[in-house]
Amino acid sequence: MRYNQLGRTGLLVSELCLGTMTFGSSEGLWANIGQLDQPAVDEIVRTSFDAGINFYDTANVYSEGTSEERLGQSIRNLGIAREDVVIATKVLGQMGPGVNSRGLSRLHIMDQVKASLKRLQTDHIDLYQVHGVDPLTPVEETVRALDDLVKQGHVRYVGCSNWPAWRIMKAHGVSKAETLARFESLQAYYTIAGRDLERELVPMMTSEQVGLMVWSPLAGGLLSGKYGRDQEGEGRRAAFDFPPVNKDKAFDIIDVMRPMAEERGVSVAQIALAWLLHQRVVTSVIIGARRLDQLTDNIAASQVTLGDDELKALDAASAL
Ligand code: NDP
Repeated sequence: MRYNQLGRTGLLVSELCLGTMTFGSSEGLWANIGQLDQPAVDEIVRTSFDAGINFYDTANVYSEGTSEERLGQSIRNLGIAREDVVIATKVLGQMGPGVNSRGLSRLHIMDQVKASLKRLQTDHIDLYQVHGVDPLTPVEETVRALDDLVKQGHVRYVGCSNWPAWRIMKAHGVSKAETLARFESLQAYYTIAGRDLERELVPMMTSEQVGLMVWSPLAGGLLSGKYGRDQEGEGRRAAFDFPPVNKDKAFDIIDVMRPMAEERGVSVAQIALAWLLHQRVVTSVIIGARRLDQLTDNIAASQVTLGDDELKALDAASAL
């Protein structure tokens, strides 16, 4: 496993991060994504940690807090030392019935950090991320609240997710002017079938030295090649069509990846993940798994080195 610096910091994170959206139990939307109980979570966390993964991504909203609970419990159950893992979580989504039980206001951030610390059974969060945009709250209020959390010792670093480039630059302007903690990472959707962020976000991240954490690297499982063109097949993507993907283009790219995978004796998923790991802007790819065999398949992608000809062919099939 290789380790990369997160943004401009001295923190080293594994190039594969374990996503925990499949952990927990709750009704509705989350039931389509995964509902792993504690023994299954322990097995997944142990396998990832033994493979060298030190980076774990969750969110307060995942399965209504139960993803955070299972991750925290697992670190305890497995006897993993707290300083050996980098825990990332997020805030923004609705967590209660009140009008202020969501968003990026100082009030909600201060309330939610306490709740996340409790669920994770820890006294600090390594990377605290805003999960998306809150159009109501001024950026200044959010940045100042996050900086206070760093000064209070509840949080080590701060990051954002699903923010446009201009908003990150606005936040960085506040951080610089007031000498406050700045966003060191962006979590965004990026796949070989969805390269839109190369237009605005990649140049901004390169210029600002903001780290990129990639979410849904297999487009919810689609890029594993296990679905047919009409999306029939077993898995969450058959029931829950997210993230949005240009299907014709995605299947054309799969048609290029499949013979490469067969020739190397690896899976199509590994080619899709390896392509991401070859992109210089990527700090860490957040892999998701509903089963242990998917996890081990995805971890093995870190051993796949693509040749120049393969990279050229993949680029030709997927370029914007
Ligand atoms: P992927 O796009 O990699 O999808 C993962 C799903 O694909 C698995 O749950 C499984 O679902 C299927 N799968 C995984 N590996 C394989 C394989 N090797 N072969 C076949 N099928 C496979 O990632 P996720 O969408 O799960 O996202 C990963 C993480 O990113 C999340 O856990 C979360 O931490 C983060 N995230 C962040 C977001 C944000 O807004 N910041 C948004 C979304 C995710 P199945 O078996 O059902 O097909």
